[in-house]
Amino acid sequence: MNDTNNDRNHDIDDVLTRTEDGVGVVTLNRPELANAQDLVLLRHLDECLTAMAENSEVKVILLNANGKHFSAGHDMNPKRDELLRFHPEGPHGLADLYAIEREVYIGFCQKWRNIPKPTIAAVQGACIAAGLMLAWPCDLIIASDTAYFSDPVVNMGIGGVEYHCHAWEFGHRKAKELLFTSDRLSAEEARQLGMVNRVVPADQLQKEALELAKKVATKPAFGLQMAKRAVNQAMDIGGQEAAQKAIFDIHSVGHGHALSISGIPVLVDLEAMKESNRQ
Ligand code: ZN
Repeated sequence: MNDTNNDRNHDIDDVLTRTEDGVGVVTLNRPELANAQDLVLLRHLDECLTAMAENSEVKVILLNANGKHFSAGHDMNPKRDELLRFHPEGPHGLADLYAIEREVYIGFCQKWRNIPKPTIAAVQGACIAAGLMLAWPCDLIIASDTAYFSDPVVNMGIGGVEYHCHAWEFGHRKAKELLFTSDRLSAEEARQLGMVNRVVPADQLQKEALELAKKVATKPAFGLQMAKRAVNQAMDIGGQEAAQKAIFDIHSVGHGHALSISGIPVLVDLEAMKESNRQ
């Protein structure tokens, strides 16, 4: 990572939007940082997705990303990330971190997951940790054959990302294997597990994703809304929503444990991580 990137006005260009034939396209646009996410980007992304949800011209939302990678996760640069600028000795202690994560991580994910329109993620390259928290809330995922998925957050002393859908996405046994090992899941294996709908050649990803979105956009809007609501309700009646709330508190215990040991809410050497990102 390069510190000069911190100076650009990234409110303007970190997320791009356009509409085409009933499809609202929302594009992550930090390709030089593998679309790493900080809170500025996430809040801007939420504004863009909310605008698409409220736009009567938009029937389907397509979330994609410029560059080689969909999203490499959270931007671990302390200068940009409120999470890592969190001060445990501050007036509210860990409560501040809990509030930020509840709003911006699990809160946004649950909000996006329940947008009353179909949403499609087009994923290429890395989709790591917080990258999963952008793809998973979408209804459909179409991946390039270059895509790979992983949640290595156990390495930080935490039991996985905040929006903890592993058991639903992979099944409980594969979920544990991937969490315990931090292994990458290929696009094809993700398709076989049901996490990804389709795998396409990298140079066809954007075209195929847009065509799929346009096909869905030909259907009646209320029918689409009710179909989505029916499936989401089935999962929620099965316990997904309630489990998410409980798992988020388990996640927060992980932050508290790390804080008690290392003085920051993750068990990680930030300088070493920044150095490895430069290589
Ligand atoms: Zn967290």
